[in-house]
Amino acid sequence: MAFNIAIDGPAGAGKSTIAKLAAKELSYIYVDTGAMYRAMALYFLREGIASEDEEAISAACEQITVTLSNENGEQQVFLNGENVNGLIRTEEVGKITSAVSVYPKVREKLTQLQRELAHTTDLIMDGRDIGTCVLPEAQVKVYLTASVETRGKRRFLELQEKGEDCTLEKICEDIRLRDEQDMNRKISPLKQAEDAVLIDSSSMTIEEVVKQILELVHQKKCGKEIEK
Ligand code: C5P
Repeated sequence: MAFNIAIDGPAGAGKSTIAKLAAKELSYIYVDTGAMYRAMALYFLREGIASEDEEAISAACEQITVTLSNENGEQQVFLNGENVNGLIRTEEVGKITSAVSVYPKVREKLTQLQRELAHTTDLIMDGRDIGTCVLPEAQVKVYLTASVETRGKRRFLELQEKGEDCTLEKICEDIRLRDEQDMNRKISPLKQAEDAVLIDSSSMTIEEVVKQILELVHQKKCGKEIEK
């Protein structure tokens, strides 16, 4: 049976950075499920389908194929065969993604694909509903969070580096809105699984968080009870 590590948490908590590093240490595949939702949102955006139009979005899901590949340890996401990695990381796509990921058709499609991947492959998967819904049997589950201020500052610096025009206040406001949407939707809301270990990274370094996760994996593999 494949060894699965689920990492859930709100936007900007550092999930992808940390999951990528831990995956490298373990020689596991890293799966960023947010990128899959973002690829679908890009399709709706390009087709001019409004994020409020559930019927049109559900129908359009039939036209979409999302696939993943791994190139030199970096996940690549394909939308109907086109590599869209470089197009999905904008704030605009992020907002639409959060709005359309409430719909059952969108979630069903990606959840199935994610489960298929995890069934056969040792992996670290990050997202919002991995430990609670996609992989309830994952051997290690982590809920990674940080304060809104910390997450906002991290995102602000990232965007500044990319040369995007933004203010810290606006970023924090967007983060609050996304938390609100992701935590309060009816299907698969973001919440800590009962058996997940909570890590608040507000005052931790990346290395410290990675180390803690590797320790949890080690404990599990040695058959020890995980301390929460
Ligand atoms: O992780 P990332 O910020 O790329 O995710 C973008 C959005 O995709 C999230 O705000 C959330 O609405 C949605 N998402 C989800 N379930 C997942 C992963 C992401 O609903 N497993």
